[in-house]
Amino acid sequence: METNCIKSSILIVDDEPYNLKILNELLRTDYSIRVATNGERALEIVMSDNPPDLVLLDVIMPGIDGYEVCQRLKADTNTHDIPVIFITSKTDERDEIRGFETGAVDYVTKPFRPIVVQARVRTHIDLKRKSKLLENQSLRDGLTGVSNRRRFNEYIEIAWNCACRDSSPLSIIIIDIDHFKLYNDTYGHQEGDSCLITVANTLESLIRRKIDLLARYGGEEFCCILPKTESDGACNVALQFQNKIIDLKIPHIASSTHSCVSISQGVATVVPSQDSSPEELIKMADEALYKAKNSGRNRFCTY
Ligand code: GH3
Ligand code: MG
Ligand code: MG
Repeated sequence: METNCIKSSILIVDDEPYNLKILNELLRTDYSIRVATNGERALEIVMSDNPPDLVLLDVIMPGIDGYEVCQRLKADTNTHDIPVIFITSKTDERDEIRGFETGAVDYVTKPFRPIVVQARVRTHIDLKRKSKLLENQSLRDGLTGVSNRRRFNEYIEIAWNCACRDSSPLSIIIIDIDHFKLYNDTYGHQEGDSCLITVANTLESLIRRKIDLLARYGGEEFCCILPKTESDGACNVALQFQNKIIDLKIPHIASSTHSCVSISQGVATVVPSQDSSPEELIKMADEALYKAKNSGRNRFCTY
């Protein structure tokens, strides 16, 4: 049974309209249902911008059969997490083995008992939702909700390798709140926490491209990864960050830099190659940040 208002979605694939009808009737109260009568159409739906949460898949179909649909779906990183349940008249043990080998999570034979289909679908939908939730939580910072250091480490590797492959520039910005220790000392740790949340959300709201990432890098430090971005572009982002944080007008009476909370930033850009590493890029941005701190704060410097 669904607990939240958005129904999980299921794609039912079967070349036999009668089977589609029965399964649809069985599941449509609890799930949002889409159907496909062949493998080609099934793959189209699965690879679309709005993929299903689970696929109920017939094996024998004209054209691309169920095994192949499953194999292709499991081979693609965008779709390999979608659970597939085979629902088939092939009852032979070898067929079952083959089904599991192609990556299915379950195998139901026809004629099926409605309660069995419902129970297995529910189990796998629940499992998927829970593992998604866990995955999400493990990559988010508990206080601010933006990506955490772990996600940062993971993503900088991915971005680095992509940039190596197509010789494109990769920029990062390290962002550090000015005089934040004094902020805590003046307003208390709880106010400090809310300030961190506001700053994090503000920075994240300025990230517009899907491939950019903002992460909490440490205490009051954030880091922004900007793939396929030249130094000029990164400086543009840094300037927006700087202005927007000042615009928040969060009072900071103890700051010798500004009457409100401000940030200092270090910007670095490289065209990565196999004989350098993300650590070097981070070190460059760190040095640039140091320069920004030492030349008056509330500014950004490039390496
Ligand atoms: P600077 O302008 O040179 O960056 O000075 P700063 O005081 O911001 O830098 P410093 O590194 O000396 O101090 C960082 C402070 O950030 C110290 C710590 O108490 C605070 N901080 C780190 N994490 C958190 C947090 O999760 N919540 C709160 N409230 N404060 C934090
Ligand atoms: Mg710091
Ligand atoms: Mg600081």
